[in-house]
Amino acid sequence: MTKPVVAIVGRPNVGKSTIFNRIVGERVSIVEDTPGVTRDRLYSSGEWLTTDFNIIDTGGIEISDAPFMEQIRQQAEIAIQEADVIIFMTNGREGVTDADENVAKILYRTKKPVVLAVNKVDNPEMREQIYDFYSLGFGDPHPISGSHGLGLGDLLDTVVNHFPEIEEEDYGEDTIKFSLIGRPNVGKSSLVNALLGEDRVIVSDIEGTTRDAVDSKLTVGEKDYVIIDTAGMRKKGKVYESTEKYSVLRALRAIERSDVVLVVLNAEEGIREQDKKIAGYAHEAGKGVIIVVNKWDAIEKNDKTMKEFEENIREHFKYLDYAPIVYLSAVTKQRVNTLLPIIDTVSENHSMRVQSSILNEVIMDAIAMNPTPQDKGRRLRIYYATQVAVKPPTFVVFVNEPEIMHFSYERFLENQIRQAFGFEGTPIRLISRKRT
Ligand code: GDP
Ligand code: GDP
Repeated sequence: MTKPVVAIVGRPNVGKSTIFNRIVGERVSIVEDTPGVTRDRLYSSGEWLTTDFNIIDTGGIEISDAPFMEQIRQQAEIAIQEADVIIFMTNGREGVTDADENVAKILYRTKKPVVLAVNKVDNPEMREQIYDFYSLGFGDPHPISGSHGLGLGDLLDTVVNHFPEIEEEDYGEDTIKFSLIGRPNVGKSSLVNALLGEDRVIVSDIEGTTRDAVDSKLTVGEKDYVIIDTAGMRKKGKVYESTEKYSVLRALRAIERSDVVLVVLNAEEGIREQDKKIAGYAHEAGKGVIIVVNKWDAIEKNDKTMKEFEENIREHFKYLDYAPIVYLSAVTKQRVNTLLPIIDTVSENHSMRVQSSILNEVIMDAIAMNPTPQDKGRRLRIYYATQVAVKPPTFVVFVNEPEIMHFSYERFLENQIRQAFGFEGTPIRLISRKRT
């Protein structure tokens, strides 16, 4: 499902991040048990009435060293590039400023809908102030108050009304969608080229809707694949495209549309904080994950190097203990041919369904081996478990008291399920429910 994207632009201090947080609500921290994942309050999902969308706070994309006006200009350009609807935010307490007029000038260039919001209109008396904002040329200003939560409903009504009809890309059920994510210069686009250049690989015309004509389609034998957002990986023109925050934003959008995510690391540089963040998003999104260590040709190696790398990766990406690791080189093509078969396996595991009867045997054996936890004299009872979803495999465990299900016991059950069924490369989810 491709959701429409809303971007908030405006000069600093008008209240962009306040509004972003209001719209995103509690969604921002979905999984608390992902150590090492600090969240950028930059890109998240929101919902208004029955409509889901993604939202970007362009104020969170700092272009380092750029002067104030240049920052705002580039943020506005990112909004134009990435969004379906733009919220142009201003400050009712300060009136129209030069910086607002500059933002307006950039936004005139887009045909995308721009909704003008005047923030910090904290009480009805202040509504008089909004009339000046007609001069910006974006029609009716919407008075809102981020701190008091006023006017957001009307603003979002207008935003949602402007959503375009998004044509779904139709890649077919059996097509495996994957993306390559990672910091700039780890070798993503080199790796895409290496993959597309493989002998067995037949590359079709780049398909997609007008909106997402950015993917590459390839076929190997009977199998179809789509590399999500190839264009985003290859394009390196504008200044902001090399900034890390922008690359994270692109990565998040690619992750969302993928079944399997290749987290690409650079063997020469080792693991950076940014790598962990990006990998954390793939894990949280419930996608199949493969860790790819690229530029394997560029480092000095001995018989221990691979093992040391593996230990280091496992240490830094604890929550990704299920992800296979591939050491390769986009330049020499070493092991590039192993990538598609691994993607196949991970994709199969990501959509694997297990039989209920076998699942319950595994759970009962697990309980026999390691008794359920107790709390305040009550013992957790597990009645039965069932798989409720795939992509990722999701299990509901019916119990007497979900509160007594301890995180570590959940983790134990998860490991037992993994040992019994495989599931290499895919996160699995366990949900405890009270049996009614
Ligand atoms: P950003 O730089 O555009 O992301 O702005 P922030 O969201 O960080 O807000 C800047 C300042 O304005 C903060 O001190 C907020 O508490 C304050 N602020 C945000 N919304 C409102 C509002 O509706 N009314 C008032 N009075 N202050 C607000
Ligand atoms: P991206 O920004 O992640 O798409 O990275 P690029 O594919 O543009 O690669 C960045 C730089 O790393 C380029 O100079 C590539 O030639 C180089 N590079 C990419 N893959 C490899 C590799 O496997 N080995 C070596 N030695 N260099 C590589």
